[in-house]
Amino acid sequence: KDTLSHIDPELFAAITSENQRQEDHIELIASENYVSCAVMEAQGSQLTNKYAEGYPGKRYYGGCEYVDVAEQIAIDRLKALFGADCANVQPNSGSQANQAVLMAFAKPGDTIMGMSLSEGGHLTHGMPLNMSGKWFNVVAYGLDAKEEIDYDKMEALAREHKPKIIIAGASAYSLRIDFERFAKVAKEIGAIFWVDMAHYAGLIAAGYYPNPVPFADVVTSTTHKTLRGPRGGIILMKAEHEKAINSAIFPGLQGGPLMHVIAAKAVAFKEAATPEFRRYQEQVVANARVMARVLSERDLRVVSGRTESHVFLLDLRSKKITGKEAEAVLGKAHITVNKNGIPNDPEKPFVTSGIRIGSPAMTTRGFTEIEAERVAHLVADVLDAPNDEAVLERVRNEVSALCKKFPVYGA
Ligand code: PLP
Repeated sequence: KDTLSHIDPELFAAITSENQRQEDHIELIASENYVSCAVMEAQGSQLTNKYAEGYPGKRYYGGCEYVDVAEQIAIDRLKALFGADCANVQPNSGSQANQAVLMAFAKPGDTIMGMSLSEGGHLTHGMPLNMSGKWFNVVAYGLDAKEEIDYDKMEALAREHKPKIIIAGASAYSLRIDFERFAKVAKEIGAIFWVDMAHYAGLIAAGYYPNPVPFADVVTSTTHKTLRGPRGGIILMKAEHEKAINSAIFPGLQGGPLMHVIAAKAVAFKEAATPEFRRYQEQVVANARVMARVLSERDLRVVSGRTESHVFLLDLRSKKITGKEAEAVLGKAHITVNKNGIPNDPEKPFVTSGIRIGSPAMTTRGFTEIEAERVAHLVADVLDAPNDEAVLERVRNEVSALCKKFPVYGA
């Protein structure tokens, strides 16, 4: 009788409701996914009880013989998955992985260069309110007139400002990034080249997006987006940087690693090396492409003109609706998205003129091109008539039928 439902019915009810929400709503948030039951089993295991400061074989606590096995499995699988020299699986989040890179290679006041948040970058790449922006002198690059990364400008800025670190990677950029080009200019000016592949990691593992590992000094990622593991972070690096990165994570930034999460990461890395995962990522890309096509046909502008990944931004201005309003009304129709600024957005960041659409979660539940096309039409139907209760009701019913046909964890 020590089950969660008996001990804490209030919390159990919240979890049950969230489970139901995940089953009943179509999830289009590009950074979310549904992990396997095996990943959840590892994360819910007794490894949560264990302190293990340090690294496998070099711990500051006794009794680490089995968590050492778990962490070493995670490290070895991760290295093999991306072809990396060395790996650290301890970062508690993507943001902490990123802090570790800054800590390892720069001092407060140094110059770093990243993609601006308003044009697709992540806040940990130098946004003024983030530690990366407060403690470092940030030079930001962005997009050109075609809404593709402005590589010429990036190179010119790098040569002019000579940043200690050049960051490539984004949270809202639908195209392939030319990592080799970044690496060349970083080498030329003697900068560390860091790639944050958080959004693309699953696609990269499966071969559907360029792998930055051969080109970068250090690569960070989250494990919970396209990679479909537990919430957390990882760092891959060239052998010469292993010591600097490992000591930036512990003792630099973190204490005891979350061993249960590391175990769950190991499971996800195993899954990511399978042919099923490769097929899954192929479908992720195909579904995103179909949605972008249909939404363009329905008079919504896709930022950068197309997607070559799992994600794209929609410019909503043709429909005279803001990102904030679109997120709310799609939510009423049981379709979950997030508002997102578009390049040169006239609206404030909390309002925005865009939404971000991603295919990873819906593809995990089994949607193929047929459903992706239907979902895109449903999104457009809602955006065409956001105040029409009859339309919302019809879309909600269609969403419900689709979700019932493709349960996430079973009914
Ligand atoms: N890096 C990128 C590119 C991201 O998109 C994100 C998450 O949104 C992060 C880092 C941060 O990850 P976390 O939310 O785990 O701190």
